[in-house]
Amino acid sequence: MNDAAFIEVSNASKSYSKGGIVIPVFEGLNLDVSKGDFITLMGPSGSGKSTLLHAIGGLEPLTEGTVRVGEEQIEKLSQSQLSRWRARTVGMIFQSFNLMPSLTAFANIELPLMLTSLSRSERRRRVETVTQLVRIDHRLKHRPRELSGGEQQRVAIARAIVADPPLLLCDEPTGELDRSASGEVMNILRTLCDELAKTIIMVTHDPTAAAYSDSVYHLEKGQLSAQEDQAA
Ligand code: ADP
Ligand code: MG
Repeated sequence: MNDAAFIEVSNASKSYSKGGIVIPVFEGLNLDVSKGDFITLMGPSGSGKSTLLHAIGGLEPLTEGTVRVGEEQIEKLSQSQLSRWRARTVGMIFQSFNLMPSLTAFANIELPLMLTSLSRSERRRRVETVTQLVRIDHRLKHRPRELSGGEQQRVAIARAIVADPPLLLCDEPTGELDRSASGEVMNILRTLCDELAKTIIMVTHDPTAAAYSDSVYHLEKGQLSAQEDQAA
């Protein structure tokens, strides 16, 4: 297979129907992402960035068009195939962390592995590996409310990568963080791309966060365009 397009979104359109009224979000979008690329999607609120991210992650079907990730044409998968595909392929990272409040950091990170046949000691080993990577190994017994925003997001990143998916989808991952915590999260995402060859698609409003990625796309009025490289 051609390495140049790990992800291929073709002629993608999405509209929502509410009370008989069709609300178009975007139409005829095309996007190719190479393996190991780190790209950013920017654009005004409501332009469809999250919708596009969810379509790529198989969380929300397109109205028209196709999404291929690796060898998988995802609209051809049944619901159960899609869940299994998602579990091994996609790690999601959200603005508001989405951790389980009653579970410790360790248990939150271990959660995706509970659906696998891995032994308890193998699960522990994997959790320890990823928590060292995101430097949260000193907080494993804490519950989310006992962690700072930056620490919660690092727990969420550890959870997203613990099953070793090739693709990370990040929806405003620094949206609730201060500058220093944002920088730490962005450094981690950059390292995951550079050292573990993760393919990353990130939505952000923050140009400082976007600067950590390889390229920036703008979604506006239903159209996607690549931002010209800016001289530093
Ligand atoms: P962004 O992430 O760029 O802010 P979204 O992808 O969340 O934008 O939303 C794009 C548009 O689609 C918005 O107008 C939003 O109101 C609409 N929308 C999103 N999800 C739904 C839904 N489940 N039902 C109806 N409309 C939706
Ligand atoms: Mg959004």
